[in-house]
Amino acid sequence: MRLSIRWRLAVIIAAAMVVTLLAILIVMRITLENTLRSDLDSDLTGDYEQVQAQVIAISGPFDQAALRDIANDHGGTSSGSAFVIFRETDGSFSAVTGNLEPEPYDLTPDEVPRVLDGEVLHETVTTGGVDTRVRTSRLMDRGQPIGIVQVATDAEFINDVVSDVQQVLVVVGIIGIAFAIIIGYWLARGAVRPLEHVAAVAAQIEAEGLDRRIRARNVPAEIQRLSDTFDAMLDRIEKAFGQQRDFVLDMSHELRTPLAALRGNIDVMLLDETIDAETRDQLERMSREVQRLVRLATNLLFSAHAEAGREVERRPVDLDVLVLEVCRQAKTLRPEVKVRIADEDQVTVNGDYDLLKQLVLNLLDNALKYSPAGGEVTVSISGDQREARVVVADQGPGIAADQLPHIFERMYRAEDGKRRTTGAGLGLSISDWIARAHAGRIVVESVAGKGSTFTLVLPREEAAASPATAT
Ligand code: ADP
Repeated sequence: MRLSIRWRLAVIIAAAMVVTLLAILIVMRITLENTLRSDLDSDLTGDYEQVQAQVIAISGPFDQAALRDIANDHGGTSSGSAFVIFRETDGSFSAVTGNLEPEPYDLTPDEVPRVLDGEVLHETVTTGGVDTRVRTSRLMDRGQPIGIVQVATDAEFINDVVSDVQQVLVVVGIIGIAFAIIIGYWLARGAVRPLEHVAAVAAQIEAEGLDRRIRARNVPAEIQRLSDTFDAMLDRIEKAFGQQRDFVLDMSHELRTPLAALRGNIDVMLLDETIDAETRDQLERMSREVQRLVRLATNLLFSAHAEAGREVERRPVDLDVLVLEVCRQAKTLRPEVKVRIADEDQVTVNGDYDLLKQLVLNLLDNALKYSPAGGEVTVSISGDQREARVVVADQGPGIAADQLPHIFERMYRAEDGKRRTTGAGLGLSISDWIARAHAGRIVVESVAGKGSTFTLVLPREEAAASPATAT
């Protein structure tokens, strides 16, 4: 699944926040621990100085009892639960505050000489899960080291403070991340909206036409550039389409006149009864091909009209007269197929004579084209109060169910390899446009192998009052 820009931005912001928060947590922890520890160490140095002063001030014999007194006396120094351990110069234990066990605080053999040389050791010792901070240094009397003294205090509060601050930071951080996601999503939505507008216009162009533009205003500079470039591209495409449509319009119009003249001349030649059978046959074939060319040029012309959104004329048209004329004309297209007129009701509709004629001619031409030699094409015209119907039925190969939904598409030609028919796949798409421009429709019923029936349904005069343009 692909994340939208909005979610991507929100996730990136959240991830950045998490990383920042972790970094803050680590830095905070180290700094806080160090600060608290060095505070504690300076407290312990104060304690040590007191102890050292007391040792020097001993007036009586300097023995274990005296040291124990000082150590015990030290139970309540500034650092609270402090305690003191006295050691001999070899590191062995000599006296301690109360009855504390001195073992956990023992010095390693290499630490003893270092301390006696003047080094001060600070370390944290954990006993029974509790941290204690210990300061170890030598004990001096008249410039000579006379032993070792360890002052210590409870350091557990450092862990407590650090974990409290950590908890607060985590809670604040989670709330911050949630806010960041919401704000990131919201900001991204604002930024992406103009892009969605571009996409919506692009989608409408397919559905509505090339005259739509984005015309973005008051948007960020990048989106403005995108919008302007897109609009400029649409201008060019619209112009190119217009030129192509004009070209098709002009060419098909120009083609029709000489083709009609050619056909007229061939028909005049066919009137000559003295021509031999072979010449007649060839002339008839030429006439049929020219008729097909005229039909193709007319379909092209009307398709250009459809694209240009031409409005159809609204004049009363006698459908029966029109269909009879088309049948007469189409009969010569394939003399080996019989055209039979079944019903011939007198029906009038409102519409464009030339367009409707082309529509019926397209249906009939297809029926003849796809019929087997010796077959029959049946045409009937009928009508009731609301609708007029022209039915063209053939005994051809029919149309497979999976191809039926596509036959009205432009340039669609269903070929199964066996049928080799001429055509551009334009006829039915133009016919469909003509029918819809007259507020009507074409209904197809077809059984593969048995034949096809195309029914043109048009509203009658009153019903067809609303003007229609191409869609
Ligand atoms: P074409 O110029 O190729 O005939 P059309 O738009 O008139 O183009 O028809 C589209 C397709 O519909 C044809 O290629 C053909 O496969 C199918 N078709 C149309 N009419 C018939 C019919 N009467 N019988 C069988 N197939 C038909």
